[in-house]
Amino acid sequence: MIIAKTIDEARAQIRLWKAEGCTIGLCPTMGYLHEGHLSLMRASKRDNDKTVASVFVNPMQFGPAEDLAKYPRDLERDCALMDDEGVDMVFAPDPSEMYDDDFCSFVDMSVVSEGLCGKSRPVMFRGVCTVLTKLIHIISPDRMYMGKKDAQQLAVVRRMVRDLNFDLEVIGCPTVREEDGLAKSSRNSYLSPEERAAARVLSRALRMAQDAITAGQTSSAAVTAIIKTKLVNEPLADIDYVEIVDGLSMQPVDTLREGDLVAIAVRIGTTRLIDNFIVGDPLIGII
Ligand code: AMP
Repeated sequence: MIIAKTIDEARAQIRLWKAEGCTIGLCPTMGYLHEGHLSLMRASKRDNDKTVASVFVNPMQFGPAEDLAKYPRDLERDCALMDDEGVDMVFAPDPSEMYDDDFCSFVDMSVVSEGLCGKSRPVMFRGVCTVLTKLIHIISPDRMYMGKKDAQQLAVVRRMVRDLNFDLEVIGCPTVREEDGLAKSSRNSYLSPEERAAARVLSRALRMAQDAITAGQTSSAAVTAIIKTKLVNEPLADIDYVEIVDGLSMQPVDTLREGDLVAIAVRIGTTRLIDNFIVGDPLIGII
């Protein structure tokens, strides 16, 4: 497995592969890998000749009061995991390689990025769109793999690719969960044992919403109320948002239809966790 720390190294290897006619899949990550990340890499290996994963904790997508400094990092362990998966190249630049001191160009979006996580994390999607644009220009992938766990991010990136004519396919991959239903996340490592137990309330609340929808409930307000009632009963949980939105535009809906997104963000102690499901998708692992 090649480990490229600079843009020039990564580009030189990509040129060689392109000259051989290889297709390339890109899996962007912030590292501290778990099964969710690895599932993206497996999907990429299935579809492409070469798989590139990036490991970059992108400073631009963290607000001043957020967890950039304490975000977990372990590149050595990540590389061992990716080597085992058969990833062909890891692109792991330092922030200074990605952002010159006088960096001043941004890719930004309205509408799709404004609600949900965009409301509580106002600089996040500008940072995500900007860094992904850079990664796409550096790696020139045919396909890019992203998790449905970050459903708004996926919608934002799909829209950016469509609006700005990026020449690649975005593949959304199912959320990988712990056995008790908690969506896997690098941030789960912040949780104390008590908080980890309390964090089960996210998937439990979603499960109750799914059950209500399966039983015929189509009112967003009613489904939102079911979720909130479950969440407020957990003393360690503090609701950031419970929203039901159109799956493409991220705009609120009153009456539920297939393809709508039911999304929640909850603080457990100081750790902010997100989870979601798409109405009509199979209920994998949400227990
Ligand atoms: P992150 O390192 O958190 O920025 O995530 C990198 C990519 O992995 C994003 O596309 C995430 O949506 C995806 N991802 C993170 N957690 C999961 C999960 N539990 N299941 C599937 N994909 C995930």
